[in-house]
Amino acid sequence: VPDSADAVLEGLDPEQREVATALHGPVCVLAGAGTGKTRAITHRIAYGVRAGILQPSSVLAVTFTNRAAGEMRGRLRRLGAAGVQARTFHSAALRQLQYFWPKAVGGSMPRLVDRKVQLVADAAAACRIRLDRGELRDVTGEIEWSKVTQTVPSDYALAAAKAGRETPRDPAEVAQVYAAYEDLKRDRAVIDFEDVLLLTVAVLQDRHDIADQVRAQYQHFVVDEYQDVSPLQQRLLDLWLGDRDNLCVVGDASQTIYSFTGATPDYLLDFRARHPGATVVKLVRDYRSTPQVVHLANGLLAQARGRAADNRLELVSQRPAGPEPVFTEYTDEPAEAEGAARRIRELLDSGVQASEIAVLFRTNAQSETYEQALADAGIPYQLRGAERFFDRPEVRKAGIALRGAARFGGNDSLLDEAVDLPSQVRAVLSGEGWTTTPPAGSGAVRERWESLAALVGLAQDFAAAQPGATLADLVAELDERANAQHAPTVQGVTLASLHSAKGLEWDVVFLVGVAEGMMPITYAKTDDQIEEERRLLYVGVTRARSHLHLSWALARSPGGRPSRRPSRFLDGLRRGPSAGAAGRAGGGAAGGVERGYSRGANGTVGGAAPRRTQRAPARCRVCGRTLTDAGEMKLMRCEDCPSDMDEGLYERLRDWR
Ligand code: ATP
Ligand code: MG
Repeated sequence: VPDSADAVLEGLDPEQREVATALHGPVCVLAGAGTGKTRAITHRIAYGVRAGILQPSSVLAVTFTNRAAGEMRGRLRRLGAAGVQARTFHSAALRQLQYFWPKAVGGSMPRLVDRKVQLVADAAAACRIRLDRGELRDVTGEIEWSKVTQTVPSDYALAAAKAGRETPRDPAEVAQVYAAYEDLKRDRAVIDFEDVLLLTVAVLQDRHDIADQVRAQYQHFVVDEYQDVSPLQQRLLDLWLGDRDNLCVVGDASQTIYSFTGATPDYLLDFRARHPGATVVKLVRDYRSTPQVVHLANGLLAQARGRAADNRLELVSQRPAGPEPVFTEYTDEPAEAEGAARRIRELLDSGVQASEIAVLFRTNAQSETYEQALADAGIPYQLRGAERFFDRPEVRKAGIALRGAARFGGNDSLLDEAVDLPSQVRAVLSGEGWTTTPPAGSGAVRERWESLAALVGLAQDFAAAQPGATLADLVAELDERANAQHAPTVQGVTLASLHSAKGLEWDVVFLVGVAEGMMPITYAKTDDQIEEERRLLYVGVTRARSHLHLSWALARSPGGRPSRRPSRFLDGLRRGPSAGAAGRAGGGAAGGVERGYSRGANGTVGGAAPRRTQRAPARCRVCGRTLTDAGEMKLMRCEDCPSDMDEGLYERLRDWR
């Protein structure tokens, strides 16, 4: 913990310091990836608190994901500024709504609906519209899309046509089911996740006394990733602020990747117009990535078009030189996944930590191939944004056991007072059949073990941070984390979609599937959609601190027709004289492009073909839940999850849940 407020400012450059010390009035930071925006606002809050200028409880920091919120709280604690609220728009709204519901509406807040698809089925039945299982999921997806884009049933048909959506049924029918669904929720006194923001806005708008109470609580607002704020979130922010302007926002228009949900960088770019007299700070020093990675990122931006691109800021790396980005062309997707797994194995063997490596892809559907390849190679991995950790049955069960032990532990000999906290936790978990050594293979048994191991790891971290903490303290911490869905980090290679990788960084990044049809994705058709795909690639590239691998496969499956070509976004960015057709003619590294081979009798690189071990579990591509039902496995979605939504929307909905 820094010993003074001024010490908090050490380790910031002059522009970041300007941000950190401008504690009153509107502040806007426009800056590219890795320039220390998140660091600047975290230190700003800590500085304000340590200097006695900000009351911790009067600050609301809004981050994009629950995980980012958890990380910010952790950093603030380490900077000596505990007690600041760091939340997503959604979780902040949920808390306020719960608190004010009795006063605003009466009674307690309705339950959040858990079997939404069933509710949609009932709504369809009420309209006498027969939907098969697939249609049901798709209609559910359309309802969710409508709500996050603030489209009411009567506007659905027009809005869907305008957005170029493929509607599962006649738009009029979808709208009818949507309207009936809204009625049914009211009748059954339940609300859905999208309602949380909508209702909070409605309460703050209509009830001035409640709005005043919220405003009395929060005096200072900080928003990270502001380029992806949606009109609905902006409305909420405006309501929180009232006529005050203690608002600090940071963002990078070149990283706008959620515009399909209505998010827009316009609020960021027009900040000065909305807040005359705002302090606007630009940061260009990139502290994250090597000059090689930054060069590629700048090259990508140089080709970008549109408003975000007109406001781009060239990055200047502050780091020593590192390796050149590696481009690899593979014959097919399994070969690509195996190639990545092989390189990861080499990195691990050379001492790189698994937690410093990420594999990033465009669609969640790609993850299975990589899970399989990593499982085959015996490499531990974690799926980001997958099933909510605290909702896993084994974690719930462990939570119940720990709670019981915390309550009655005083009289129980299964818990000696002299034993340290992690040992107590191990003792309770062994009562749940948990062993200290991992079970062989991958699959569900291993996954359950990993969950419980993560709980023990969490207990260790907690005990180290708070010496003398009791089991009851730990249970309180678990409850707090469960509320915030702040899962402990698992030691392993991260598998993540580009959308969920926002704001994060790793030493080594494998960006896979950088092929036409994947990046840009086939359904990106308009110029705006293509530009968003380019920004997504920019987000991916700028996650890497030093090692960056970009790869693509010419065909989907071994022996398949080689129908793909590398992403157009790489045109002119690959090194070497013959970059365009490189790699295809021969092996080696012609034109800066390496060549991978498909698995098979004579084509395997690096020794014998890996033996198939256990299959990686099939997962729902929406919520990440492990699937067992054959029908669900075929669709790669569980029954409760909607289909046909943009992958990024999946991420956002998933984070809310
Ligand atoms: P993104 O746009 O991807 O969210 P960002 O602008 O928020 O990036 P940060 O995540 O805050 O960037 O910082 C990127 C990395 O650079 C982090 O590892 C951070 O600790 C480091 N960093 C930032 N500022 C400095 C600095 N002044 N000195 C040293 N390291 C820094
Ligand atoms: Mg950031």
